[in-house]
Amino acid sequence: MVDHGPRVGNRVALTFDADMTDGMLHSLRSGRVRSYANLRILDLLEREQVPATFFLTGKWVQRYPEVTRRIAGNPRFELANHTYGHLAFTGDCYGLPRLPARGMTEDVAKTFRVIEPFGGRQTRYFRFPGLCHDKAALDALAPLGLTVVDGDVVSGDPFAEAWQPLVRAVLDKARPGSIVIMHVTEANASMTDEALPHILAGLRERGLVPATLSEVLTGG
Ligand SMILES: [Zn+2]
Repeated sequence: MVDHGPRVGNRVALTFDADMTDGMLHSLRSGRVRSYANLRILDLLEREQVPATFFLTGKWVQRYPEVTRRIAGNPRFELANHTYGHLAFTGDCYGLPRLPARGMTEDVAKTFRVIEPFGGRQTRYFRFPGLCHDKAALDALAPLGLTVVDGDVVSGDPFAEAWQPLVRAVLDKARPGSIVIMHVTEANASMTDEALPHILAGLRERGLVPATLSEVLTGG
């Protein structure tokens, strides 16, 4: 279980969670929400050749196979696991419906099976929805041989109403080895793409260089 890499060098990991719940799928189907896939983030990262790691839910991948292909096709992007349907692995986790303990191992194993056919830079990194976990949840996932990744820099981008606080939150806390948590879920994190250019510029000013999670965690 990690929340940052070695505090050496100058690398930081930008990570983007791709949440998808049944409720979000319903919002898409009803037309209430246009998109939970923020392509402006991908455009920017690609244009600036910035490495990043995407924590994908299985349901997001199944809803956005083309976008997943685009992520997997970028040699600077890593793919990681964020559960199948973004259910809570503990009680009292931001109001998320709870996944029964007996379903935990299979939920995460199934998500790897959904992501793996897309190829690219696959990893065994995993992030709990809402970062909520306890010993029972960790025990359930132990057979899967994964690394649980939290983060030490929480951007606070879900449901943000302005981009400036996100930039401040990231730049105040980022240091060598940091793991920055953001979201690529557009409608639920609508300021992230506006904040990102400022975050990249601020990191640059501080001498910090984005790298994949693998590179940050190994200090390599
Ligand atoms: Zn999430």
